[in-house]
Amino acid sequence: MAPMYIVMLGPPGAGKGTQAKKLAEALNLVHVSTGDLFRENLKNETPLGQLAQQYMNKGELVPDDVTVAMVEERFARPDCEKGAVLDGFPRTPAQAEALESLLAKFDSDVKVVPFIKVPDDILVERLSGRWMSNSGRVYHEKYNPPLVKWIDDIDGSQLYQRDDDRPDTVRHRIEVYNEQTAPLINYYRDKGLLAEIDGTQPIEDVFQAIMESVKEG
Ligand code: ADP
Ligand code: AMP
Repeated sequence: MAPMYIVMLGPPGAGKGTQAKKLAEALNLVHVSTGDLFRENLKNETPLGQLAQQYMNKGELVPDDVTVAMVEERFARPDCEKGAVLDGFPRTPAQAEALESLLAKFDSDVKVVPFIKVPDDILVERLSGRWMSNSGRVYHEKYNPPLVKWIDDIDGSQLYQRDDDRPDTVRHRIEVYNEQTAPLINYYRDKGLLAEIDGTQPIEDVFQAIMESVKEG
């Protein structure tokens, strides 16, 4: 089967990571989150992590060349051969074009772009209650609580809040999204790849809507 690449689009807090993880499991694809990759580098104190941190702390985007090089390296790993669910990438038109060139090398293309729409006031509430797990699972203190507070349901590890989920940084991240990432909505709509999803529904309903868009895409 030809590899399948799905791009999750939406503002910070829309539910991209939550849905990408579920989708990847359902379709037996890898979940590639550039935010997770940067955070992993940060934790391991690599030069890439140290560079990315300066941008992430401020809620700014890491420069395109750095981000694209990291994705290219990730795609070279064998688990990407069947395709991937991309979460947080591309985030600028230049990254979208770079993605096309990278996929062309595998004789592939983006299959569908679920665009998860959620109003700004809900985004701030979602991010301020977000509890992260190193496993890539995402919880919310109110909307998706773990069985035991601050503990991952599956592997028992400690959950944590992200430094950049503070309300002031969140508001700046939403501005950055509106300026630099929102142009991708029309970019993918013009290519006939955009599937608009109402992200205010419960997690399972959002998931069903995304699965439909993948089947139709
Ligand atoms: P993104 O990856 O787009 O930044 P996340 O998947 O991390 O967003 O979700 C942000 C927060 O909102 C998390 O705490 C998550 O548990 C919660 N969340 C995700 N989807 C929903 C939903 N449909 N309804 C309520 N809360 C949600
Ligand atoms: P995320 O986990 O997707 O919310 O990303 C967290 C932070 O990582 C962002 O605020 C950016 O600083 C950085 N980042 C993640 N993905 C990208 C990308 N595709 N391009 C540039 N910066 C990114």
